[in-house]
Amino acid sequence: MVSSNRELPATLTIVEHPLAAHLLVGLRDANTAPEHFRHLAKRLSIVLLLEATRELATVESTVTTPLTDAPARQLAQAPVAVPILRAGLGMLDAVTDLLPDVAVGYAGLERDEGTLRPSSYYLKVPDMTGRPVLLLDPMLATGGSASFACRLLKERGATDIRLISVVAAPEGAAMMAAEHPDVRVFTAALDDSLNDVGYIVPGLGDFGDRLFGTL
Ligand code: URA
Repeated sequence: MVSSNRELPATLTIVEHPLAAHLLVGLRDANTAPEHFRHLAKRLSIVLLLEATRELATVESTVTTPLTDAPARQLAQAPVAVPILRAGLGMLDAVTDLLPDVAVGYAGLERDEGTLRPSSYYLKVPDMTGRPVLLLDPMLATGGSASFACRLLKERGATDIRLISVVAAPEGAAMMAAEHPDVRVFTAALDDSLNDVGYIVPGLGDFGDRLFGTL
């Protein structure tokens, strides 16, 4: 995995919580069956989400307990979550469980085999004005899809995007930092490289296939 003397993009946060490391082992393990893979993906997404939402704006208020009033602090705006189909769906339950007021959009992206550029076949997003947006893309490989998705979301009004990825490749992290220096990226691991067909190495294989049992 990434050597400690490699310079990391300033936008990248590698979540070094022991639970994240522990859960990632099961996701990487080629013998993990889809049902367990889904559980692990959800649990690891919760850990990543806690870090990614650490700096969300809050407002102060008061709550009345059975005994007296207590100071309270709540999220200033309900976030928006946008999974990139289909692998991002494996991270969505974590977000809806933790943030019950979240509004969910979807981004379906594919790569044009002629131009090799990403294009969108489906984009449905709620009003994102003034709201924090959590973009869910578990494998930040070349960065092409995540960067394209950020562009689409910005065109639709998003001004505050955080990308949450289970594993990132240096290429993807660098592309995000270059093309979207305003977007922070949260991941459990920065892996070594991409292979010649764009898989992250050592990675965990095809996240969508492992999630949905389509190997
Ligand atoms: N998408 C995946 O599912 N896995 C990778 O390694 C890269 C992209």
